[in-house]
Amino acid sequence: MSQPTDTIFSKIIRREIPADIVYEDDLCLAFKDVHPQAPVHLLVIPKKPIPKLADAVAEDHKLMGHLLLTAKRVAEQAGLTNGYRLVINNGEDGGQTVYHLHLHILGGRQLQWPPG
Ligand code: AMP
Repeated sequence: MSQPTDTIFSKIIRREIPADIVYEDDLCLAFKDVHPQAPVHLLVIPKKPIPKLADAVAEDHKLMGHLLLTAKRVAEQAGLTNGYRLVINNGEDGGQTVYHLHLHILGGRQLQWPPG
């Protein structure tokens, strides 16, 4: 099923709604999750509106690498020296609610495994 590409995250990129932005470059943006699930909960999103990981294509490979390295950088910037978790929820069974690809950075407490 196709999802709309203009989501609340596109509105954040265009500064149409506020967000607590902690990092930005030409390709991506990182900001605080509005409903944090850990003391540090940040989202890293590409500016390109890819709805979900399953929609990424081969030509996105540099962007995908950039998102991972940005997550590492943003986690360091947030002081997560004792570790953290990156999560990508993909589609309905993955629990995805916003259909603009995003990486969750969760940290600042001991996280459990497996997730629910
Ligand atoms: P997911 O369930 O993986 O699609 O994650 C979507 C995340 O976006 C959730 O953790 C929400 O709390 C977060 N979220 C939704 N709207 C906003 C917003 N306006 N600003 C920041 N985070 C948001």
